[in-house]
Amino acid sequence: MEFLVLLGPPGAGKGTLSRLLERRTGFLPVSTGEVIRHEMADETSDFGRRAKPYMDRGVYVPDELALTLFFSILKKFSSGAKVALDGFPRTIPQAEVFLDWVKQEGHVFHGCVHLDLSVAQAVERMKLRRICSVCRTPYHLVNRPPSVPEICDECGGALMMREDDDPERVASRLERFHEQTRPLIKWFADQQRCIHLDGGNDPAESVATLMASWALI
Ligand code: ADP
Ligand code: ZN
Repeated sequence: MEFLVLLGPPGAGKGTLSRLLERRTGFLPVSTGEVIRHEMADETSDFGRRAKPYMDRGVYVPDELALTLFFSILKKFSSGAKVALDGFPRTIPQAEVFLDWVKQEGHVFHGCVHLDLSVAQAVERMKLRRICSVCRTPYHLVNRPPSVPEICDECGGALMMREDDDPERVASRLERFHEQTRPLIKWFADQQRCIHLDGGNDPAESVATLMASWALI
């Protein structure tokens, strides 16, 4: 398999970038946050029950739980799949396990994409962020509005605010990012395995930069 890893503060635009990247390169987006929210909506899911207390507080789930989730998600993919990981690994211990496994299994890790955005911009963006309640496509009421107000362009579903985009949890998620994920980005950068991109730029430009940097097609 081939992997790239997208990291950045909540609201930086990882979801939008990964969807565009899929169209241009075939890298399939996997958002561990989305999978956790999906599991939590399923009352019979043991994983959802274990993740809920952390998600309710806007903190990261323990590494062991994130790793279990990651390896179970992978079972759905074929051995030649190309995957863009949005939000995993998110801590240095997760990355160590991930990279050991990549090496052991002979997979390819292209590198980490750091999509950066200031705290103030991230907070502003999340106020105006909406997602489709059916297919989870992200929108922004000003920068990327749907053609018909409140309706998803892709599937006609109703738009809504994301479950954890309330101000308290946004603040907590941003703190967790600075405490636990910034050190990971530095860790990748120190190994020359990180590309830094401005989350304020046009996502199409960011995709072009990535394709040129890593020859992704
Ligand atoms: P955001 O990056 O906007 O906060 P995500 O949808 O990527 O949102 O993730 C939402 C939440 O899911 C995180 O705040 C965290 O609690 C949990 N989560 C997702 N991936 C991981 C991970 N790799 N390790 C720990 N927690 C995770
Ligand atoms: Zn939709």
